[in-house]
Amino acid sequence: MTTPAVVCIGMAGSGKTTFMQRLNSHLHAVDSPPYILNLDPAVLNVPYAANIDIRDSVNYKEVMKQYNLGPNGAIITALNLFATKIDQVLGIVEQRAKSVSHVLIDTPGQIECFVWSASGAILLDALASAIPTVIAYIVDTPRTTSPATFMSNMLYACSILYKTKLPLIIVFNKTDVADAQFATEWMTDFESFQAALKALDEDENNPEGGSGYMNSLMNSMSLVLEEFYRHLDVVSVSAYTGAGMNDFLEAVDRKVEEFNTDY
Ligand code: GDP
Ligand code: MG
Repeated sequence: MTTPAVVCIGMAGSGKTTFMQRLNSHLHAVDSPPYILNLDPAVLNVPYAANIDIRDSVNYKEVMKQYNLGPNGAIITALNLFATKIDQVLGIVEQRAKSVSHVLIDTPGQIECFVWSASGAILLDALASAIPTVIAYIVDTPRTTSPATFMSNMLYACSILYKTKLPLIIVFNKTDVADAQFATEWMTDFESFQAALKALDEDENNPEGGSGYMNSLMNSMSLVLEEFYRHLDVVSVSAYTGAGMNDFLEAVDRKVEEFNTDY
């Protein structure tokens, strides 16, 4: 079985759903239609036709009312309810995966509801045991141009890699608004990132400028990231214009290859 599952994970508003939509139409055009799962119970409209939609089996608004929960609690409860049916769902996905090139999975807008919940972990583990599963970590590029924000975002990605132990592709999205070249430079040239951090610190008007402790912490963390980057695939895309979609699919292929040699 080589059909991969691509799970889109990222901060709220990073563009997971829009990226899924673009990937869907791109695959329709250049390959074959993917099989799509929407695991966001709270989304109002999905701009693609989901084959399996958590909203068909769990009513998020009803969960909120019935269990007297706030938005995040209701998302987690909805995921819990859905996770009880995972065997059934996987049976269908495994069957359908044989006749499609990719399985695409959208996750809740709020990243922590999925990544840090027990049911999120159950869903991911079950999926990864059935088909090669790759995480696409979607980054809002225009919002991550400051070195401190960038580092926080990459540390988050690193924690996801550590927690899921699944192959990870970092997807710098919204490149129609901000070029991701700064990011790829920071990731490949350690000194340029250090220089950016230093410049930030020297700029006294910048609230992100750090103290001595912050600086040494940031230096240590950037060493962690240097190690993290060594195994990553990084692509720049625009879910709006469709730029970079082939690069992304190639990165998925590379990850699946690693998957096959790892197992
Ligand atoms: P999600 O919460 O991660 O699923 O994010 P959405 O897909 O709902 O997108 C959040 C916002 O970012 C929406 O307003 C999108 O229109 C916008 N967006 C997503 N992808 C892109 C992109 O490639 N370029 C631009 N300029 N905006 C984007
Ligand atoms: Mg979404």
